[in-house]
Amino acid sequence: MQDCIFCKIVSGEIPSRKIYEDKGTIAFLDINPSNPGHTLVVPKKHSKDIVDAEDAEIEKLFLVAKEIVKRLRERLGADGVNVLQNNGRHAGQVVDHIHLHVMPRFSGDSIVISYPRVKLEEKDFDEIQKKLGEERKVPKDWEMDMM
Ligand code: AMP
Ligand code: ZN
Repeated sequence: MQDCIFCKIVSGEIPSRKIYEDKGTIAFLDINPSNPGHTLVVPKKHSKDIVDAEDAEIEKLFLVAKEIVKRLRERLGADGVNVLQNNGRHAGQVVDHIHLHVMPRFSGDSIVISYPRVKLEEKDFDEIQKKLGEERKVPKDWEMDMM
């Protein structure tokens, strides 16, 4: 995509600190890291978010994230790792090309991942469960896995 910064990184038009690459995926260091080793995992093909991307790309994204988590633990001594993915401006997505943040955590670091909790009544839970639990069309081979 013409104006997409991650597409430009994929094509090499913009430099990046690449740490992993395969046929369909790259991982490079975030330019503005939360900690040393903060990595972005990106499918080479442009899609804007988790719904827009193909299922196989999402699977691969997480498999590559798993590999990066191992490296962060083994090579940088990460004590923990957050894997984060933002969809839409209100969720903090700035670059509209799907990516996973793989963020190493070190004991005593000052990252705070914080969200308030809302108070819900049982009837609210009932309503939300009903809305979200209503079946939508899912791939055929998922049927066995459903509750
Ligand atoms: P998000 O808020 O989830 O869209 O995250 C976008 C991330 O991309 C931010 O953490 C930025 O620091 C990072 N970023 C933006 N431009 C570059 C770049 N040229 N190279 C590496 N990381 C970048
Ligand atoms: Zn793109």
